[in-house]
Amino acid sequence: MLGVIGGGQLGRMLAMAARRMGVRVAVWTGGLEAPAVELADEVIDLPFDDPQAIEHFCEVSTVATVEFENIPHATLEAVAARMPLHPSPRAVEICQNREREKNFLKQNNIPCAAFEVVATAEQLAAAMAKLSGPGVLKTADFGYDGHGQIKVQGDENPAEVWQKFNSPRGVLEAWVPFEMELSVMVARAADGSMVTYDPAENRHRSHILDLSIIPARIPSAVADEAAAIARKVAFALDYRGIMGVEFFLLADGSLLVNEIAPRPHNSGHHTLDACVTSQFEQQLRMVLGLPAGSTRLLTPVAMLNLLGDLWPEETTPPDWRPLFADGRALLHLYGKHNARLRRKMGHASFLADTPEDALQRATALRDHWLAEAAARRNSTGHA
Ligand code: AMP
Repeated sequence: MLGVIGGGQLGRMLAMAARRMGVRVAVWTGGLEAPAVELADEVIDLPFDDPQAIEHFCEVSTVATVEFENIPHATLEAVAARMPLHPSPRAVEICQNREREKNFLKQNNIPCAAFEVVATAEQLAAAMAKLSGPGVLKTADFGYDGHGQIKVQGDENPAEVWQKFNSPRGVLEAWVPFEMELSVMVARAADGSMVTYDPAENRHRSHILDLSIIPARIPSAVADEAAAIARKVAFALDYRGIMGVEFFLLADGSLLVNEIAPRPHNSGHHTLDACVTSQFEQQLRMVLGLPAGSTRLLTPVAMLNLLGDLWPEETTPPDWRPLFADGRALLHLYGKHNARLRRKMGHASFLADTPEDALQRATALRDHWLAEAAARRNSTGHA
């Protein structure tokens, strides 16, 4: 029985891969809403720090992994003391906190944006003076998808920014004038061997991933460099399993690491439909001590996130008919019943002969659904 800590859509897709291979799955939801539960053989729904839940999870699982990084360190240590847990508590601990993550990158000479750790208004003032210019103040802990981030121009009153920030610790990062955002999925096995997937070109809207285009439209030297940095990150973490490394690509062709995700990643969802081995099966292989599967991209693809914004009403999905009529578009829904703005409800893969065609079809459908949803909300008077 594979024990999965976390029960979100990543756990759901991991559980699907596990079931396909005849592996049983226990899902520990932490009491959060959990799309993975429908696929689970065993569900633990108590909080992640509950001793009874830890006991139950360890009782039923043979080997464990995480699909969500905001798990208390003591819980990860308790699980790792009882069974193999991949990735390790140390790797998760570094990646779950921006301050530790940035310090780790710096210590390992992995390129990232200039940053300063701040815990008081005075430290923020000093950091703003040092970085001089635009930046982003991000929470040190538990930040995701742009939550807890404040953009600064550099000439604000630091005391006011700090007050608005309202978090005990932060990381002030220099603003990166990037040309493109990229990510690389890397999988590292028990013997230290690694495989990488082709870089994804990622486009965000309101800080949330909107679209990934694969292969990224970048020179092969940049793709090689991104893969080399991702390998370096995995090696330095002594990582086992799959991870996502997000990058900023600058105009001069250089790369900066933005974030590391110690798990399957949203920008790797296309691997389900467009690669020999999906990121979820790859994770399973790494965790179970099996050899890696081929990461070969079979066809260009665009992955479109289906956010709640596309739903005309909370429980009324978009009209999927144009997607099915496309013929080379594949729908993945996570079984979430209520749509909310910014909520990840599912994704769709658009297979194509060229990345441009995939992107064009994905964008056209997304804009169609957005317009339909807006028209419906206007006509029913909902905000
Ligand atoms: P994060 O939650 O840190 O991954 O940030 C979410 C998104 O905000 C990124 O994917 C970028 O689009 C943008 N962003 C974050 N940090 C910076 C930065 N230092 N410079 C420019 N854009 C940024």
